[in-house]
Amino acid sequence: MEKLQNFINGKYITPISGAYLDNFEPATGKVYSLIPDSDERDVELAVEAAEKAFPIWSKMTIEERSKILVKLSEGIEARMDEFVQAESRDNGKPVSLAGHVDIPRAVSNFHFFATAILHFASESHYMEGQGINYTLRKPIGIVGCISPWNLPLYLFSWKIAPALAAGNCVIAKPSEVTPYTAYLLGQVAKEAGMPDGVLNILHGLGGKVGDAIVKHKKIKAISFTGGTKTGEYLARTAAPMFKKLSLELGGKNPVIIFADCDFNEMLSTTIRSSFANQGQICLCGSRIFIERSIYEKFKTAFVEKVNKTVVSYPQDPNAKMGALVSLPHLEKVLSYVELAKQEGGTVLSGGERVHLEAPYNEGYYMRPTVIEGLSYDCRTNQEEIFGPVVTLTPFDSEEEVMKMVNSTEYGLQTTLWTSNLERAHRIADEAQSGIVWINSWMVRDLRTPFGGVKSSGVGREGGWEALRFFTEPKNVFVKY
Ligand code: NAD
Repeated sequence: MEKLQNFINGKYITPISGAYLDNFEPATGKVYSLIPDSDERDVELAVEAAEKAFPIWSKMTIEERSKILVKLSEGIEARMDEFVQAESRDNGKPVSLAGHVDIPRAVSNFHFFATAILHFASESHYMEGQGINYTLRKPIGIVGCISPWNLPLYLFSWKIAPALAAGNCVIAKPSEVTPYTAYLLGQVAKEAGMPDGVLNILHGLGGKVGDAIVKHKKIKAISFTGGTKTGEYLARTAAPMFKKLSLELGGKNPVIIFADCDFNEMLSTTIRSSFANQGQICLCGSRIFIERSIYEKFKTAFVEKVNKTVVSYPQDPNAKMGALVSLPHLEKVLSYVELAKQEGGTVLSGGERVHLEAPYNEGYYMRPTVIEGLSYDCRTNQEEIFGPVVTLTPFDSEEEVMKMVNSTEYGLQTTLWTSNLERAHRIADEAQSGIVWINSWMVRDLRTPFGGVKSSGVGREGGWEALRFFTEPKNVFVKY
């Protein structure tokens, strides 16, 4: 069985413990590779390598760093099919999705920040008759990047690319549930001419190697995407060490549908915003609020489409949904369907596990699930499920829907469907979330600030926000 390795100091090496963890293929439920069970000793090795590499990398000209990152982006593009197949196999998502979204976006992330850094400027503040302030923006040093399993290379590269572009050395840890494309990335970085020790990729458990990254004194900033509970723990651990922290956490996103929207466009986009990537995108809308006058029309049309959704093995070109990422996750999602029933909900579609034909009969498949009849403040409507489960709730007024929309502890994104311009701007202003999509969903411009409010996180990624996070400003005043 294939054994993945850590990528430290430009080389693939075995973990110091010599121990490995099982890596499951969600499509079949079988173990298909082994990943290093790394610990603090591997982190120490990576930090030593990064310390040596930092003066080399941070003193390179921006053009030189940019060229290497452009090559890295091209290196992934050149191996597109290999990355696409690997991502799909590791995560369970349809090959078509990995090919259209995940890997092209990883290519763009590296290319975007490789070129953004060429245009990144620091500020100066002139003081009339007194002098001038100028701000230096220097790389922080060694930074940690920790990412989740839902969009593996997409989110891994979203952190690593700006960290590297800004001149930092990186200790990165992908999710232990989906390590494979991060494993492949080391080789591409090497081929792109990245100096040894600049990018180090460690595999293993969050509570072990992830924790050791967060606690290491020489790792000065942590960029984390994952669950809110883990984020809370990270904040508790890293804050007393005065580390810079960027936390992108969970969500419970609302979709607000008014009767005056473009019904057909709304309907097809709402299918995607509910079930793309098996509902495992932090930006998926899981609470759908529908103006009462079109509630029945929407419900009938939506459920009809949901019933036609093809759930199949990832290589099936007809698959609209593949497998959920792991058995524990599938069980968690199914337990929320049971909770919804106990809370008085009616399952209109789905709600159960699907067993495909062999060899996929033990894969982690589930029908897309639609539930109605729940109160807006029950647990099903307040807690993050992070799977293919949505609830439908009617509303009568804007005031009523905004109360329900803003009622959760989360605040990542809000989707709104209406043709009333005034109302659109008003709701965009009132929604307690870091992102609002009006008459659209998942349209991403990499220059825009990305992140959430309340328990959905602290800080913003994307564009200058990310480059500011990964640099330390120093103000210098010169007297006239
Ligand atoms: P998770 O919090 O379990 O794990 C995320 C990463 O943190 C993994 O690499 C894991 O190994 C690591 N980790 C776990 N415990 C750790 C610890 N004690 N110290 C250091 N590292 C640790 O999250 P997950 O289950 O992998 O991902 C799903 C969650 O991610 C969902 O809540 C989802 O909403 C969230 N998410 C958020 C965004 C966003 O941009 N806001 C994007 C994608 C996913």
